Amino acid sequence: LVYTHLIVDSPEPFFRCDRMHATISVTQCATMWRAANEHNSELRRQCRGCALGAAHAGETDANLCDIHNINICARCRRESSRLIWGNICVSCRNREYEFARGFNARGTPLTKLKALEPRQVRYFEDGRPQLRRAALSASIEELIVSTLRDAAKRVTFGFVGFAQASAACRQMRLF
Ligand SMILES: [Zn+2]
Repeated sequence: LVYTHLIVDSPEPFFRCDRMHATISVTQCATMWRAANEHNSELRRQCRGCALGAAHAGETDANLCDIHNINICARCRRESSRLIWGNICVSCRNREYEFARGFNARGTPLTKLKALEPRQVRYFEDGRPQLRRAALSASIEELIVSTLRDAAKRVTFGFVGFAQASAACRQMRLF
């Protein structure tokens, strides 16, 4: 990456941005990156997840995941203009309500609806261990999606769940 000074005696460095197909200043880059990644600007979609933009904005440990700050339902992963509790879409919320009641809006008992269960996922963010819990969830992926969507900083996941699963398998072989 080469930084140049377009205006003589200007302290502002410029560089060639491949995503914008243009020569822009570091300040412009940082502003566009914040618009895209912190404010979810539709105009700046090309700046989403850009590591160079994050560095120019001074955010070296930012969450650069594609779905960060996107209004995506953690359960069905569709984009939705409205998320209930900032997490799941209206359709998934209605299914959850039916699940809690045990029958659907027409009074028919539920047979095909996948069971919702409490789950949790452990992860590191900003050097600290974190725990995300859901009282009802369809899968562990649901919690991973919501974490990647919501975390401001880069996250890494722990896999305590796998250790528990393999312990359960060993237990089963005894019988
Ligand atoms: Zn949904």
